[in-house]
Amino acid sequence: MMSFTHPAPLALLLTLAFSACTRSPNVSAAEPAPQAAPVASPAPAALPHVDGQRALQYTREVVALGPRYPGSPGHAKTEAYLRRQLKADNLQEDTFTATTPAGHLRMTNFIAKFPGSKDGIIVVAGHYETLYERKDFVGANDAGSSTGLLLELAHQLRGRKLDGYSVWLAWFDGEEAIRQWSESDSIYGSKHLAAKWQRDGTLKKIKAFLLLDMVGDADLNIDRDANSTPWLEDVIYKAAADLGHQGHFFARSLPMEDDHMPFARVGVPVADLIDFNYGPNNSYWHSPQDTLDKLSPQSFQIVGSVVLETIRLLNQG
Ligand SMILES: [Zn+2]
Repeated sequence: MMSFTHPAPLALLLTLAFSACTRSPNVSAAEPAPQAAPVASPAPAALPHVDGQRALQYTREVVALGPRYPGSPGHAKTEAYLRRQLKADNLQEDTFTATTPAGHLRMTNFIAKFPGSKDGIIVVAGHYETLYERKDFVGANDAGSSTGLLLELAHQLRGRKLDGYSVWLAWFDGEEAIRQWSESDSIYGSKHLAAKWQRDGTLKKIKAFLLLDMVGDADLNIDRDANSTPWLEDVIYKAAADLGHQGHFFARSLPMEDDHMPFARVGVPVADLIDFNYGPNNSYWHSPQDTLDKLSPQSFQIVGSVVLETIRLLNQG
């Protein structure tokens, strides 16, 4: 991911670090994690079940491809991997040339479309590339986790009749800055796709845009993003509470700059689901310590189920 608009108050980060929950980060495959009982809401019976282990396995396979920045061998391998995983789906590739401080770079967004019965689209997105020219960085959480969780969501949506809005999953390229984060040097893929969808009329059909970024941390604390659409954040919180996961959501609020911004600027309701407290004082962020051992299948399962429950609530409303 991204940068945020203002430096986080240190006291806030410390408070969060001290209040970090102590649940076990690892769930044995032989011993399924206890599911939060949906006491208040009988809905999940009809829902696909997000498999956190499988989401983590996708992430593991992506991380094994190495650094994945535009122009790197790992990036080309990731493109091929996404094509292979999504070969049964209605997959569109949005390839363009980005003008960056390092010159022209070829980038590709991937969009898998799952049609619904209702007019309108819900987009769930994340980026898949890693920090530019950082050969010491494999990005398990940033952005292996969003890449893997989106693949698990595709697995769940594939072959189903969606009784509601269409769901489009998008894997963005070029989220990270090439030299230094600024409005012009960042989020190349999402800026490109938002402009394209504005031109062809797609934007008007988008009911909600949900962004996933850094969602695999075993110590899961999804922040409430002050740049996101308040009513959509409220729906996400209700979804989390319905599933008994509210303890992992919105303990603090921060303004995030991320791939949702180009869509927010043109009036699409957006929400950035991001845990921007990764390791002590966020020290694993953009560091060689962003490795698989920091992630937990339970975190993927929680975020994935909350996304699907949010979609269910949006379809009702
Ligand atoms: Zn990043």
